[in-house]
Amino acid sequence: MKSFTEYVWMNTNERYDIVNITSQVEAALKKSGIKEGLCLVNAMHITASVFINDNESGLHEDFLKWVEKLAPYGVDKYKHNLTGEDNGDAHLKRTIMGREVVVAVTKGSLDFGPWEQIFYGEFDGRRKKRILVKIIGE
Ligand code: ZN
Repeated sequence: MKSFTEYVWMNTNERYDIVNITSQVEAALKKSGIKEGLCLVNAMHITASVFINDNESGLHEDFLKWVEKLAPYGVDKYKHNLTGEDNGDAHLKRTIMGREVVVAVTKGSLDFGPWEQIFYGEFDGRRKKRILVKIIGE
């Protein structure tokens, strides 16, 4: 069994953002040479997510609006912010949107369902963060 590891770096201009990372993951898969196996993609930070959904900008706005409703930004709103941080909302948003995805690799391609793409969800941006891409198989 082969194994391949790559880190993708992110640094969004906005505090909240959704970025399509499908092409970076496909490039890592190509580099790995693996044709049959599994591809794990996870955010390496507890205020960012990786998730799979539709590449549609209205939906991305809906996601950001939805998580803001569930966990609104606010320094005085969260016990976590008593530590001196202001990102209590970002930890909750990350948990709502998920930490990682696993995609099957079939005949050298990511074996997506219809319209599926991989996204990075940023909830406390404007700094460097990493995404892990780990591919195992033959
Ligand atoms: Zn924090």
